[in-house]
Amino acid sequence: MQAQEARARALQNPSEFWAEQADQIDWFKKPTQILQENTDGTHTWYADGELNSCFLALDRHVAAGKGDRVALIYDSPVTNTKKTYTYKELLDAVALFAGALKAQGVGKGDGVVIYMPMVPEAGIAMLACSRIGAVHSVVFGGFAAHELGVRIDDSKPKVILSASCGIEFTKIIEYKPLVDSAIAQAKHKPEKVIMFQRPEVKAEMIAGRDLDWYEIQQGVTPAECEPMKATDPLYIMYTSGTTGKPKGVLRDNGSYAVALNFALRNIYNMQEGDVWWGISDIGWVVGHSFIMYGPLMGGCTTVFYEGKPVRTPDAGALWRVIEEYGVNGIFCAPTAFRAIRKEDPEGELFRKYDVSSLKHIFVAGEKLDSPTYHWLREMSQKPVFDHWWQTETGWPVTAPLTGMGESDMLIGSTNRGVPGYNVQVLRVDGSQAEADEMGSIVLKLPLPPGVAQTLWNDHERYLSSYLQTFKGYYHTGDGGYIDKNGFVHIMGRTDDVINVSGHRLSTGEMEEVVATHPAVAECAVIAVSDEVKGQLPIGLILLKDGVKIDPAQLEKELIALVREKIGALACFQKALVVERLPKTRSGKILRAILRKIAEGEDYAPPSTIDDLSILPEISESLRVAGITKT
Ligand code: AMP
Repeated sequence: MQAQEARARALQNPSEFWAEQADQIDWFKKPTQILQENTDGTHTWYADGELNSCFLALDRHVAAGKGDRVALIYDSPVTNTKKTYTYKELLDAVALFAGALKAQGVGKGDGVVIYMPMVPEAGIAMLACSRIGAVHSVVFGGFAAHELGVRIDDSKPKVILSASCGIEFTKIIEYKPLVDSAIAQAKHKPEKVIMFQRPEVKAEMIAGRDLDWYEIQQGVTPAECEPMKATDPLYIMYTSGTTGKPKGVLRDNGSYAVALNFALRNIYNMQEGDVWWGISDIGWVVGHSFIMYGPLMGGCTTVFYEGKPVRTPDAGALWRVIEEYGVNGIFCAPTAFRAIRKEDPEGELFRKYDVSSLKHIFVAGEKLDSPTYHWLREMSQKPVFDHWWQTETGWPVTAPLTGMGESDMLIGSTNRGVPGYNVQVLRVDGSQAEADEMGSIVLKLPLPPGVAQTLWNDHERYLSSYLQTFKGYYHTGDGGYIDKNGFVHIMGRTDDVINVSGHRLSTGEMEEVVATHPAVAECAVIAVSDEVKGQLPIGLILLKDGVKIDPAQLEKELIALVREKIGALACFQKALVVERLPKTRSGKILRAILRKIAEGEDYAPPSTIDDLSILPEISESLRVAGITKT
């Protein structure tokens, strides 16, 4: 099928198109109901289908005689470890761990929080959960105890799976004190904590609650795959919204499997036996879709890397891994290439390695700036494809269909809509924008398989966040335009969500944390652009009347507070005390103007502004503090 034909067919007759795609995967019970519209505007895919995601990822390959193929390559420069698992070995490990979870009382529909670094055991845990129908929620290891606690309270896990430590470059981060503190802070108390003890650190265990990863596997019977309804939840993945409460994006089993199979083959052009490397972490959606489930369901070898693009040991790390395992395709956030470029601008380290196995480089997660694109393209001589998606969608919305022979790349664009996604741009009043006209990027309903149709325990928030802004459309929260050739240009978020090193964070959440400091009366957190990390948050602080505090000391305390409550990944490193903040007459802080002033961009003060004289004043404060870009 040609790419344009696929796009047209998926829009004209979604049921027919996605029934054909459903035929490409193995079902326990093939669906006869393909697409249903619900009264609230959401849709249900494959309502009467039954399958198991772990079966698709492991058992079916072993049953087909491919058990000796390498399923997972663990490469950990931070521990000097390399290990491979064949499909058969991975299946055995997963089935045994699933049996152990069952023996601990974990079953279908139970919640399991996984707070682990990039060790294969974390991937084994995810698959074991899906095998027995437990709903996993992986929390990125970089999140602090408070954030973990918030997610525990929301997902109410029966058990928590964790490891004794993570390793950041050479620094050992003990996880157990964080887990203990998170549980202490949370109202919901999980029954058990199952700890994977790494040789680097031995975690202190609490008798009666904490169990050892291997001890619980002694003598248990490996678990079989639980038949799951297509609509049963597979996992919850928390992502930042505009408030302090993260959104629990809920993924189903059936439509996700169909979407991942379609994406792996047609977007990334990965076939059985190919080596694929999703350069991310299992704590993010990429880790779910394109480190674990996607490549394994597709019979590929997936690279599981516990390291960084630089300093583990150097900026040649990515190229070394590609050469060593003959990697055929990669997915990475642009920030990684910016970091590599900073350290190896001339590509001296790049030239030490043979990357001829690589077909192409996919990037997503944040804007790909053109200097980074050109540097990467010229040095690697590989096609570099920008593509765009979100935690909620679970798989790419706009991308080239390289598996259908497409190789278009337009710098500054994230390519055209993928079959099944009807991407459009709307004006504020809901009317259709012209070609090249900026507006809100929306997806006309129905959404294709794989995209979340609800938030965990908060369907109302799903409806209000995504479906109610423009009736009949999913509101992505991104602004941009579509050019006359159908290429989508994403300009950034239209809400208070920012992107630091490809990590999605909420400025609203940071404001809530900063505001808890006793000296702070009010604050605004805005993002300013950064050469390596894409964006960086900056806090503008109004002190409470009468408070006397050294601004440098306050900044130090606020940095520590955000680090403690949200985590180092927020990169909150600047807090500036100001006299006043620009507001509308109704009291809303004008963050967009603050950001423009900080970026040195032109701005037109809105007519709703309360006091125009604040703008030059704040402009001067930002300039003196060295924040304003020149
Ligand atoms: P997340 O849910 O963490 O994957 O973040 C999704 C958000 O990241 C999107 O809404 C965009 O704002 C941004 N994003 C993802 N991919 C791209 C891209 N290729 N170009 C620009 N922004 C992107």
